[in-house]
Amino acid sequence: MTIAENIHAIRARMADAAQRAGRDPKEILLIGASKMNDAAACQAAIAAGIDALGENRVQEMAAKLREHAYDGAPLHFIGHLQRNKARQVVGTAALIHSVSSLELLEEIGRLAERQGLVQDVLLEVNIGGEQSKSGFAPDVLRGAAERAAAIPHVRVRGLMAIPPIQREPHGNLPFFAKVARLYVDIGRDLYDNKFDYLSMGMSDDFEDAIAAGATMVRVGSAIFGHRQYQ
Ligand SMILES: *Cc1c(COP(=O)(O)O)cnc(C)c1O
Repeated sequence: MTIAENIHAIRARMADAAQRAGRDPKEILLIGASKMNDAAACQAAIAAGIDALGENRVQEMAAKLREHAYDGAPLHFIGHLQRNKARQVVGTAALIHSVSSLELLEEIGRLAERQGLVQDVLLEVNIGGEQSKSGFAPDVLRGAAERAAAIPHVRVRGLMAIPPIQREPHGNLPFFAKVARLYVDIGRDLYDNKFDYLSMGMSDDFEDAIAAGATMVRVGSAIFGHRQYQ
């Protein structure tokens, strides 16, 4: 299967999942998680109509930018972001999915102000309470979101989450449902119903994420094939 064929097949599955949930398929964006895939693969995904590409590592993103990997589609940053690397991402990524602390968000705001822009971001929720993952714990998220709303030069557009790895089929559904509830409640109470991005779901579970309310799914291996880790 080519990248284009994979994207068409995933779009069809996304549309089915949306219809089953009584949702409009057009409100759900397909983000290609392109880590460890080269510029040619990124360009093939863009030619096939991917909505955006998401990168995980700043260094890899910078190298692929020089190769014009993302020309023709928005670039998102979806990986863990260190404060000292934020400078390379602010103003370059249309959306940063993975804001995991208020200190990072303040730094993003400072950098955006210097460039005279407003950076769109999502707050990452550590929905499984895992030590190994970054993100706001669910019980501190509301407080953080309230403070985030007052930070200039950033616009919080919603939430992102990566649930713990599950062995059971549909095991992520309860986690997706919890994130969706936080998204709806915080969006209504603190953001004037202006939240529009709920980023959750990957190759193995994007249909369940859509059932729970995702508006962005981040799909890697189902588009680009299995990654070769060294
Ligand atoms: C790699 C990655 C994905 C995609 O994972 P697949 O299982 O390959 O679809 C999604 N989100 C993030 C943050 C990732 O790092």
